[in-house]
Amino acid sequence: MSAAGLVIIGSGPAGVAAAEAFREHDADAPVRIMTEDPDPPYERPPLSKEYLRGTTDDVALHPADWFAERSIELHRGTVTELDVTDHAILLGDDRMAYDALVLATGAAPRPLLVPGGERALSLRSLTDARRLREAATGAKTAVVIGAGFIGCEAAASLAMRGITVHLVAPDTLPQEKRLGSDAGHRITDLVTATGVRYVGNTSVREIGSHSVLLDDERTIEADLVLAATGVTPNSDLARAAGLRVENSLIVVDGHMRTSADDVYAAGDIALAHNADAGRAIAVEHWQDAADQGEVAGARAAGRTVSWSGAPGFWSDIGDATLKYSAWGDGYEHSRIVDHDDGFTVWYERDGVLVGVLTHNADDDYDLGGRLIVEGGPAPTPVR
Ligand SMILES: Cc1cc2nc3c(=O)[nH]c(=O)nc-3n(C[C@H](O)[C@H](O)[C@H](O)COP(=O)(O)OP(=O)(O)OC[C@H]3O[C@@H](n4cnc5c(N)ncnc54)[C@H](O)[C@@H]3O)c2cc1C
Repeated sequence: MSAAGLVIIGSGPAGVAAAEAFREHDADAPVRIMTEDPDPPYERPPLSKEYLRGTTDDVALHPADWFAERSIELHRGTVTELDVTDHAILLGDDRMAYDALVLATGAAPRPLLVPGGERALSLRSLTDARRLREAATGAKTAVVIGAGFIGCEAAASLAMRGITVHLVAPDTLPQEKRLGSDAGHRITDLVTATGVRYVGNTSVREIGSHSVLLDDERTIEADLVLAATGVTPNSDLARAAGLRVENSLIVVDGHMRTSADDVYAAGDIALAHNADAGRAIAVEHWQDAADQGEVAGARAAGRTVSWSGAPGFWSDIGDATLKYSAWGDGYEHSRIVDHDDGFTVWYERDGVLVGVLTHNADDDYDLGGRLIVEGGPAPTPVR
């Protein structure tokens, strides 16, 4: 590799893991991470959990000298152009050459397109989290819009601070469309156990200065409003550079290679081929972003590795931990099995297990992860 070395765009788990993996295999070539985030790399998962509850301030991904020790440079700023023909990027006025490039630009919160939507806070970066925690200090009431995992976690964390929280979403039950009604009922129980009031079957029509108007004419008081309404992949750079992009995701093979020479993509931004699934899947999970980044970095350093394993993540709603592992591209049938203090939901498609959701059932979670990869049926009949 020449003096240009590896350039990475994005300082989330995919970008940092790519830098680390590359450096493990190449001690000499420059490694530069470009990031528009003003904070040193940090963990996002605690931002809706311990950080929002106020029980931790330390979310650093690595100790301060970790990057210097590995000769990994961090450059602040927004990359505005990618020239795949010349192997160069533009950061501010600086044009920088690369030998290999990893796009790990992640995703950004989707704006809430209702009158007053700009009043709603969002939660993606540490800057967002600081703003939200500040707003929570002194707030008596809050509305969280969107009942995905981040919405449920944030609503529970705000309620644990003593705030009266309404969680508003179009589903009758949280995540019913994605995970089914059995899971929806159990998630409702976990969220409401923290004091959160779930308001389903409705959406937000307008956000006022201290209230939220719903489309069924109800008004809910809110000192703070958090929009947890999903994310949009940051794929503009890739699209403008002519890379293959589908549904706003950069298409990569199992080695995280994009359609352009020497350009890789990893993490939330990638639609990646998974060796065990035998198809391309999209995931928005921390560990999978890091795993894909590791593949991209090792591959850029000349190693032959590919992305495999069942994607998954853990979610903390109040004091309860949910564990979910799935290919994430749909199921036909599901079956819930209740345990003394938890539950397991098995998800099947075409007679094979494609997902498992557990609460206090770690053996099922481990078994499910293995069966998903092996392509076996669920251990208990699902229909
Ligand atoms: C509050 C919260 C809680 C979460 N909890 C969990 C959890 O419990 N478990 C789990 O598995 N997942 C969780 N996630 C999801 C997880 O954090 C993401 O899947 C993961 O961060 C994706 O990593 P990434 O590296 O692909 O992208 P990101 O982490 O989004 O990083 C993208 C980086 O690219 C930078 N960037 C983008 N465009 C440019 C540009 N043009 N120029 C320069 N820099 C740019 C950004 O500033 C950022 O540094 C959570 C997410 C949030 C927001």
